[in-house]
Formats: sequence, C-alpha cells, structure tokens
Amino acid sequence: MMTCKDVSLLLSTGQLDDAPLSRRLAVRLHLALCRHCTAFRRQLERLARAARAAGREFDREPTSDFESKVGKRLESEG
Ligand SMILES: [Zn+2]
Repeated sequence: MMTCKDVSLLLSTGQLDDAPLSRRLAVRLHLALCRHCTAFRRQLERLARAARAAGREFDREPTSDFESKVGKRLESEG
C-alpha cells in the first residue's frame, strides 16, 4: 500500500504518467480509498486550470489586476 506522501508526490510532480503500470494502479487504488488524496488531486487539477487560464491572460497582455483575476477564477470554479 502506498502512503499519502508517495501518492501526493507522484501527483504533484506529474511523474505518474511515466510511472510503471503497477505504480499507477497502486495510486488509483489508493485514490479510491483515500479521500485526502482525492481532495489533493482535485486541488491540483484546479490549480492547473487556473495556471493555464493565467497563461492565456499573459499571451494577450499582463494586467495589473492579474492576481485578483486568478483568485476570482479559483473561487468561481470551487
Ligand atoms: Zn492518501
């Protein structure tokens, strides 16, 4: 059984895709049983979406209210 630390590390570093199948299955099993890691993964996905949205903002033009925009987006997607 993987620990929460193992799972959160794999999730946050994005190394899961490169991990062997047995490892990915172990993570999936852990996520099915552990609501802490499920919540953590959800947060990561939310951050990734916000980061991508922020990237689009930068492509256009960085604005002075950039940070509050990202914050609002995070809240609205919560
Ligand atoms: Zn866990």
